[in-house]
Amino acid sequence: MLTIAISKGRILKDTLPLLANAGIEPAEDLSKTRKLIVPSVCGEVNLIIIRATDVPTFVEYGAADVGIAGKDVLVEHNSDNLYEPLDLNIARCRLMTAIVTGKKLPAGKIRVASKYISLTEQYFAKQGRQVEIIKLYGSMELAPIVGLADCIVDLVDTGNTLKANGMEPLDLIMDISSRLVINKASMKMKHEKIKTLIKQLEAAVERRR
Ligand code: AMP
Repeated sequence: MLTIAISKGRILKDTLPLLANAGIEPAEDLSKTRKLIVPSVCGEVNLIIIRATDVPTFVEYGAADVGIAGKDVLVEHNSDNLYEPLDLNIARCRLMTAIVTGKKLPAGKIRVASKYISLTEQYFAKQGRQVEIIKLYGSMELAPIVGLADCIVDLVDTGNTLKANGMEPLDLIMDISSRLVINKASMKMKHEKIKTLIKQLEAAVERRR
């Protein structure tokens, strides 16, 4: 049995067609079921459906053999214990700084709201900027509007969320897409199965191009 951890939310809708292309289809409708573990129709795979930020943890500890997670989550998680053999080229977006439209960052130390503490710290350290990072778990766009932060670091896709909240993107930190990650022990113990999965997903990614 192979266990694959997949992210809820945006990534899921791009992940399912890719897995289907590799012959893996959930035996239940994931948008309807409340189950957190769902077998595949072929019976050889279990899918576990969890929060995006938890995917690297499940895979790192071997609770899942394989996972699909955004590069943002993987860089923030920062683990040496995962193989990352394939860019799935799905859920593409950009990690950016963003600010209230028309405003400029003040000189000196700034306050930045984000859920990406480590990525934000690294980015501003490279810029030589002193920052106080305010950890938020969602609705980052609110922070500059209510005076909680000077800017935010968040994912931007269409830019509509920023626009709707009177904000604009400022600087690109990193292009993001979802990646396949593999537990190192599983790669040894279930080599054939995982090799086959990587090949099938590679072909599915190519077909999607
Ligand atoms: P948008 O309005 O299309 O720019 O989307 C921005 C909102 O969607 C922000 O709240 C982001 O955190 C979230 N978002 C955008 N792309 C992704 C993605 N690939 N994965 C997860 N969240 C995303």
